[in-house]
Amino acid sequence: MTNNRMRPWRRLTEAVQAVLLLGIPFVRINGESALRFDIQTLRLHVFGTSLWMDEFFIVLIAILFFTFLIIFVTQIFGRIWCGWLCPQTVIIDLTWFLDRAASKTIIRKAVAYGLTLLVSIIVAADLIWYFISPYEFISALMAGNLGAVASGFWVGLCAIIFMNYAFLRHSWCATVCPYAKLQGALFDDRTMIIGFDNRRRDECMDCSACVRVCPVNIDIRNGLQAACIACAECVDACAVRMERKKGKSLISYFFGSPGSSGSLIRTNVIIFGALTLLSFAFFLYLSLSRSPLDVTVLPSPKFEAKMTAQGEVINAYTLALENRGRNDLALSLKAYRNGTRLKATPEKIMIRAGAYLRIPAFIFSPGSADAMRAGQSELVLETDGPDKIRATRKVILRAPEVL
Ligand code: SF4
Ligand code: SF4
Repeated sequence: MTNNRMRPWRRLTEAVQAVLLLGIPFVRINGESALRFDIQTLRLHVFGTSLWMDEFFIVLIAILFFTFLIIFVTQIFGRIWCGWLCPQTVIIDLTWFLDRAASKTIIRKAVAYGLTLLVSIIVAADLIWYFISPYEFISALMAGNLGAVASGFWVGLCAIIFMNYAFLRHSWCATVCPYAKLQGALFDDRTMIIGFDNRRRDECMDCSACVRVCPVNIDIRNGLQAACIACAECVDACAVRMERKKGKSLISYFFGSPGSSGSLIRTNVIIFGALTLLSFAFFLYLSLSRSPLDVTVLPSPKFEAKMTAQGEVINAYTLALENRGRNDLALSLKAYRNGTRLKATPEKIMIRAGAYLRIPAFIFSPGSADAMRAGQSELVLETDGPDKIRATRKVILRAPEVL
């Protein structure tokens, strides 16, 4: 009998994750980073969209969604994140040579620490690339003008990351990591764990292979322990031993504990599953309904309503426009009163991508003071073409004092 090994699948998952985390900063969509918070403009670029600071409630909803998702997944699958996806685990597995070098010569140790420093330099740069485009970062580095702030952050991050991977390693999970501490409160008696099957204790050879391979030095046979990061190394170690006896691993994944029963669909899972879905739906709605054009219309305080020689009343406004999109916008300005088109100037407004514009605008309306007070008036800014962007704002038309 051959037991399925967890390690190859874990390594594959870790490799995919490492490639994604390192590769995403280099991906460009519509000329911008796929995922980056630009410090200079205070904008978050997310897969083709740019969110401005005052739209960060969308980011807050996204954070809420991820929080509910993490709770939901933890309630069902326990510490699956820690063992399979957490960057801390991934990099520790990537720097496995450091553990091996502990009992080797000083040269082997120096090489291992040197390689860990190299990994730390790359990881620190990768973190910075989520704030400064890697293309700008690398070209500035090559030209020798990276700047004191970026260089300082790089060195500081590198030092923290190196200390973590070189000295803390898995003790981070047991001592510092807040998620690890939260999990005790999120687990229930049906959460998936890695456990020793006590019903088959007689089959255990007391070979201690599961203890020797454990990166946090625990004996899983003594029951679930807070330090366990669910790396499944003990599952594979026992599987190898038990194969010699043509048996299955005594250590495995269990929902709850070995032999326990009960529904996996329980109240807490339903509640957090629903919250996860709702917050995701709300996030999608907010993301898809956002307009790249932000318009504020203010009555001009310095310009009283005036009557022209042709009998038209001029009202003046200040338009504050923000183009939050990636493309320049050619806008037409239109005005309506009770659905009737009025003359408005300027008729055309050009605003560059990412620009903020404050310009005066005028509405020319015929009619008496009574007619002007009646009904609804609005200003419309819209682009031409099939993918029309349109913003409508209600305005008040004032009558001149002479009327
Ligand atoms: S007991 Fe040790 S080896 Fe087994 S899953 Fe937990 S941390 Fe990994
Ligand atoms: S590896 Fe398996 S057989 Fe060996 S001590 Fe651990 S549980 Fe028992």
